[in-house]
Amino acid sequence: MTNKPGKVYLIGAGPGDPGLLTIKAKECIEEADVVVYDYLASPFLLEYAARDAQVIYVGKKGGDHTLTQDKINQLLVDKAKQGLSVARLKGGDPFVFGRGGEEAQELLSHGVSYEVVPGVTSAISAPAYAGIPVTHRDHTSFVSFITGHEDPTKETSSMQWDLFARSNATLVFLMGVKNLENIANRLMENGKPADTPVALVRWGTTSRQQTVTGTLETIVDRVRKAGLKSPAIIVVGHVVSLRDELAWFDRKPLFGKRIVITRARAQASDLVSRLNRLGAHCIEIPTIQIQTPEDISPMEEAIARIKDYQWLVFTSVNGVKFFFDTLFAMGKDVRTLGHLKFACIGPVTKERLADFGIISDILPETFRAESVVEAFTGQDIKGKKVLLPRARLARTVLPEELAKMGALVDEVTAYETLLDDSGREPLITMLKDKEIHAVTFTSSSTVSNFMSLLTKEDGPGLLKDVSIASIGPITSDTARSLGLEPDIEADPYTIPGLVDALLDHYREKP
Ligand code: SAH
Repeated sequence: MTNKPGKVYLIGAGPGDPGLLTIKAKECIEEADVVVYDYLASPFLLEYAARDAQVIYVGKKGGDHTLTQDKINQLLVDKAKQGLSVARLKGGDPFVFGRGGEEAQELLSHGVSYEVVPGVTSAISAPAYAGIPVTHRDHTSFVSFITGHEDPTKETSSMQWDLFARSNATLVFLMGVKNLENIANRLMENGKPADTPVALVRWGTTSRQQTVTGTLETIVDRVRKAGLKSPAIIVVGHVVSLRDELAWFDRKPLFGKRIVITRARAQASDLVSRLNRLGAHCIEIPTIQIQTPEDISPMEEAIARIKDYQWLVFTSVNGVKFFFDTLFAMGKDVRTLGHLKFACIGPVTKERLADFGIISDILPETFRAESVVEAFTGQDIKGKKVLLPRARLARTVLPEELAKMGALVDEVTAYETLLDDSGREPLITMLKDKEIHAVTFTSSSTVSNFMSLLTKEDGPGLLKDVSIASIGPITSDTARSLGLEPDIEADPYTIPGLVDALLDHYREKP
């Protein structure tokens, strides 16, 4: 027990697109000791939580409650009374059909202080991402948020169907998918024209967004045919007709494409965010873990003798990162490196080096080791000592070619790449269910590790209908050697190049 009073933040986590979290919500998550979240809050947001924060899932999907509301309330009270700062994440906005009001009252009755951080509610944002403005001067002057959960046949219904039917309001029903038929019938019985436009938007604002439109008369059938289920927003009103003109999100070039990312998690974010922005649904199945080598003494010894070297060559951002980690851990700084010339493979490695205030003297045009060799032509390298910090078991082309030019090359292991097989099970299930459109490979080791996840299965067979996207010719060769023919190859051999190649591919074969 501490004396510091605890506090609960009732936070709106937004509707699903991680970009729709508020800045205040992000700060609260970052500072929280405990993060409590449920089904509708995007798991992406947990990445903002501190490493040592307790993260508790309290469930709730339809009637399938992981913790009852009473237990959730008790949990919030208990944690706050221990002096902890609790971030209670709720989908959308906490005070819009989120039981945020009840939780606040409960906290109040136990003398626990709280704050409310409003969020972007799905009631507005799911329609917006489907191209439906909930108000529009030509169509409606007001909008209602209505629970669709209440059984409309209930005798003591508080639902004012006659009012809903009479008004020209946009009606937004939450939690209503199961009751759709009743909702449509009740509105028509009470005089709402059968041709009133209706839309359902499932998993709005996410790359899984699905929209079905119709009229009060046709919607039930269309939703059934589309197999659309909860969670979805139901919008009833003339504004729905604006979707034809205003749809934007589901017109993105990669919308609905489910793309597997095989890079190490820490390195995947650039690729993931570029693909997300184009509407793709990224599934991260990291195949590589990047680690400090078990024995760092060769790296330390090389740094201790750095005055003996004339060149420092980096072939990856990891090489840069782990080299500088070791340098700084030894109590040295970049002044130690003032006498050296630098070479970096690829623009991203160069940028990472620039983060440390160093401009690379040589930047080979492409990612291939062969082109580094070309770039060294014209440099005075004969008889010079070159330090090459890189992955254990990296390709030998580069040191061999440099040696041929007369350089004295010392390779040191800066980091190790290990197989990450944590994603094996979900991967196989998704492949069997044909839920994946493309797999991206950003290095030879992502291909070989990925294929080794499928060893006990028929790898090439499972990938038959999946587009294989490779970052460049070397990665493609590795894929071919394992029985996979790439459908897509990047040029230039970079992440933006890979994204462009995917775009071209789907432009041709939507
Ligand atoms: N507090 C939440 C609503 C919680 S009630 C908010 O402000 O958004 C749960 C209902 O919200 C679901 O049944 C569904 O109708 C709706 N919902 C939540 N997230 C959604 C999403 N991403 N897309 C469509 N509907 C969503």
